[in-house]
Amino acid sequence: MGAHISIPMYERTVGQRLAFEGERCTECGTVAFPPKAACPDCRNDEFETVDLSGGGKIYSYTVLSPGGAPPEFAGQARAEGRYVVAVVELAEGPRITAQVTDVDPDEVEIGMPVSGEIRRIYEEEGVVRYGFKFAPADD
Ligand code: ZN
Repeated sequence: MGAHISIPMYERTVGQRLAFEGERCTECGTVAFPPKAACPDCRNDEFETVDLSGGGKIYSYTVLSPGGAPPEFAGQARAEGRYVVAVVELAEGPRITAQVTDVDPDEVEIGMPVSGEIRRIYEEEGVVRYGFKFAPADD
């Protein structure tokens, strides 16, 4: 597809790349991401930190049009028109909802390998909002 269109306001609010850091339950080994207060499987509340690869595959997806975008995606929607939001199943197991970039919405398919990154999007009243963005993996 065409070149990316620069949206200065959007770029200004996008922070540095962050590490994918999840939590592994010390009881059952389930990996939670983003970190949760209790294990989604066994309700244990003790975890060890685990670095996630950021790799995964598309579990399900939807193509959205500008207008109904949640705030964290609005800038991208204005820039590119239709865009893809997917449930990505990370290699370590957790599923997260994320935007998929650098892809033609018509070419996205279930099971497509993707790799992601986390960026700090904005901070509001002390609460930091993070954005997850995935792009097709090279393999
Ligand atoms: Zn557990």
